[in-house]
Amino acid sequence: MSQRISGVKGMNDLLPPDIEVWHFLEARARETFRRFGYQEVRTPVLEDTALFVRSVGEETDIVGKEMYTFEDRAGRSLSMRPENTAPAVRAYIEHAVHVREAVTRWYYLGPMFRYERMKTGRYRQFWQMGGEAYGSAEPAQDAELIDLGLQLIHGLDLPGVRLELNSLGDENCRPAYLASLTAYLRAHQSELCAECQARLERNPLRVLDCKNPKCQAVVAGAPAVTDALCRPCQAHFEAVRHKLDAIHAPYTVNPRMVRGLDYYTRTAFEFIADAPALGTATAVGGGGRYDRLVQELGGPSVPAVGWAMGMDRLCLLLAESGKREEAKPELFVAAADAAAQDEAFRLVSELRRSGHAVDFDPRGGSLKSQMKRADKSGARFALVLGERELASGDGELKPLAGGESVRIRLDTLGAALAARLR
Ligand code: AMP
Repeated sequence: MSQRISGVKGMNDLLPPDIEVWHFLEARARETFRRFGYQEVRTPVLEDTALFVRSVGEETDIVGKEMYTFEDRAGRSLSMRPENTAPAVRAYIEHAVHVREAVTRWYYLGPMFRYERMKTGRYRQFWQMGGEAYGSAEPAQDAELIDLGLQLIHGLDLPGVRLELNSLGDENCRPAYLASLTAYLRAHQSELCAECQARLERNPLRVLDCKNPKCQAVVAGAPAVTDALCRPCQAHFEAVRHKLDAIHAPYTVNPRMVRGLDYYTRTAFEFIADAPALGTATAVGGGGRYDRLVQELGGPSVPAVGWAMGMDRLCLLLAESGKREEAKPELFVAAADAAAQDEAFRLVSELRRSGHAVDFDPRGGSLKSQMKRADKSGARFALVLGERELASGDGELKPLAGGESVRIRLDTLGAALAARLR
């Protein structure tokens, strides 16, 4: 026997029946994006490495330690996208979308790649869906996107997901805040974990969301970013909150919540689930405003805001609550003998052509084995074709979950199914 080859560690196969949970999520998500007027974009999995270095940030964990980066055959450095905001911005600039429309609302959905330490809800290939809005610096745009995220989560019937909100300031007030934060952390340097001691110089904001209890104790006394906002950032933050209050969207302000990517300005937020199914990976989504990113990547000065949600994590929650989009046939057609097989095959093809979900056993075989397969398929009804049915043009529609069979004319089968499934 040849040696078996396994899938790549941290990259999951999504198979039936679990895929039904994904279909449920995707259908609800697309429907929500549609209601909000967001249109889908699909960008390539591979991008120039420089795109992520310049946007996500060289000192972040994502770029520093987690990217799948390699040289292609022509010696270009490419990376598998660790997130989709930067690729979407690249496409927005490359296709000069701002020339055609003043406000652009996009969504995406697809696999992302990060070489992370794995645990429940944290993988190396994982799926994200996200919304991005370009062209409006107004607080109403931040609030609309947050509302979109909340309505999506609500539409999935997932209770216990809460919203945390913060403002990270902008280029006017953040430098002073970073200076005071760094000074404070330096004074407590010896109390920090080894990783945070290194972060302190490279990316002090990240110390704020370290999970180490020692670091959290230090962070409890650190200056809060919300106390250091300049007037315009403060006004923006207040207006976002005012809009959220107007639609009764509950949130808590968490001045220690920073996001792991460098491009955010002003509003930042996270959707957090308190669910044992996720272990400690409790963030199901997050995002914020990134008013400078389009320009920093060589485009026009266009403000933007967006979020991404982790689909693997949402699916873990949905699986627990039993939500899925079932793909079961309406009817299973069995052939009692070899003579009926051709007619059964023809009937199945015709019903499928007219829009019905119908199954049969291509192997034929005994009626008993075909009926076993019918039960396993989860079909609502079964129909057996044999000598008598072929001769009379009648058949018995048998409900597989129990109940009386009904005689029907075979040439009205489609309508009979539709009437019973309504
Ligand atoms: P981020 O922008 O890094 O906060 O990612 C947004 C969301 O994507 C997170 O809240 C998670 O739900 C999800 N996510 C991020 N990294 C992973 C991963 N390695 N595995 C599964 N989901 C992830």
